[in-house]
Amino acid sequence: MPMNRVQFQPGLSMREFLSLYGTDEQCEAALIVRRWPRGFECPRCGVWLARTSFERQGRRYWQCAGCQYQCSVLSGTIFESSKLPLTSWFLAMQLLTQSKTNVSALELKRHLGVCYRTAWLVKHKILEGMRLAEADRQLTGRVEIDDAYLGGERSGGKSGRGSENKVPFVAAVQTTEDGLPHLASLSGILCAGHSMTNRSMYAYQQEDDEGGHGRGGDDAVDPEGTH
Ligand SMILES: [Zn+2]
Repeated sequence: MPMNRVQFQPGLSMREFLSLYGTDEQCEAALIVRRWPRGFECPRCGVWLARTSFERQGRRYWQCAGCQYQCSVLSGTIFESSKLPLTSWFLAMQLLTQSKTNVSALELKRHLGVCYRTAWLVKHKILEGMRLAEADRQLTGRVEIDDAYLGGERSGGKSGRGSENKVPFVAAVQTTEDGLPHLASLSGILCAGHSMTNRSMYAYQQEDDEGGHGRGGDDAVDPEGTH
């Protein structure tokens, strides 16, 4: 079988990840470089100058020279007010982004050593952050578009694309010039008999929970019942 270059593309190994982000200090330093690459910028007034900086409970804080606002690099991020150490957040991001298949909240719970509710919240906060970061992106260049379906056949229903249990999507993939996939976008289609509703998503997840899709999903239950 010929080697699939997409399957074999390099990623960040766990060994490399742990050497880069194995301590809270490394994670904090990485966030500072990412958020303020040109130095501190006040998230409240936008001034690029800190009057002073200091440490409190092992975390570095800055005081804005303009409005005197005090903040850490975590202020205004999904990590703010979380009791979970940064190393656990980074490990969750590594696991969620390096896996080719879905990483369930239950699996995340086992990896992080936290309760299910915490793992579920961590996973969904990270996914929501990724969604917001990509919300305004438009695919450009070479784009391939096709229809796709989510869901599986149930007994008594129609098979194939006519199944009442399947939800149609338009899948668009931006590729490199030589056809390798680079970015993908999925859009649900609303039409008679086929709509992406909470009920259809729930049914899909329930089946996932039972291993029906052959994936690692077991996130069917929202611990708060709010999703
Ligand atoms: Zn300020």
